[in-house]
Amino acid sequence: MKIAIRLDDITECMDWPKFLRFKGLLDYYGIKPLIGVIPLCTDETLKGSSEGAPEDFWQYVKDLSGEGWSLAMHGVNHIYTTDKGGLFPLNRFSEFAGLPYEEQLENLAYGVDIFNEHGIETRMFMAPAHSYDQNTLKALKSLGFEALTDGFGNKPYTYIGLTFYPISFRQSSSLRSKKEGYTTFTVHTNTLNDKDFERYEKYFKEHPGKFVSYAEYMAVTPVKRSVFGGFAERFMVLLKRTLVRMI
Ligand SMILES: [Zn+2]
Repeated sequence: MKIAIRLDDITECMDWPKFLRFKGLLDYYGIKPLIGVIPLCTDETLKGSSEGAPEDFWQYVKDLSGEGWSLAMHGVNHIYTTDKGGLFPLNRFSEFAGLPYEEQLENLAYGVDIFNEHGIETRMFMAPAHSYDQNTLKALKSLGFEALTDGFGNKPYTYIGLTFYPISFRQSSSLRSKKEGYTTFTVHTNTLNDKDFERYEKYFKEHPGKFVSYAEYMAVTPVKRSVFGGFAERFMVLLKRTLVRMI
């Protein structure tokens, strides 16, 4: 099993020392992740130290893209306004799930406009709290999105015309797995402590060749999700929710 990395909650106001420390690790081991960029930085819980922050955040995002990092839009303002888990209900709150289609479309289009104003383009969506519903997917498609970083499994799959790039059910099992395929480790740099940094450094050092750039994962040909795959995934989501709360 090859492992790609996604970094959630990338905003102008995030904790820069932690982000830069993790970026240093990724650079050292030559791993290029997917970053989930939030168009509007209004979520107070995501604010951190600005030490080392670039002068022009959007130019910095474009530079990362130039270095081979992949980009996703991570919601629009990252504020949870509903108590719905949606189709992949790892959490019981959402920025989108449960809202009417028109409202979701308008909100998402606003996020895309902000990206476009800053010269950022992406076809990949990263749902805050992993939560979205059928209306979110419909709105994303109508705005030109083609893929989501979510779901369980060991290869990308297509579902109602969108490609899903699965995330890891449990990091330790993904690391040990000798199976063919790919998964994603979800990293929130804002909340990492020293022990977490050591753990990731150990992963990268002890498993050379296992960690790959997200672009490699995106180049894998997706399979079509079967009905059974949908049921199995839903079962795993509920199991996972009972084990750990993911944001
Ligand atoms: Zn997030």
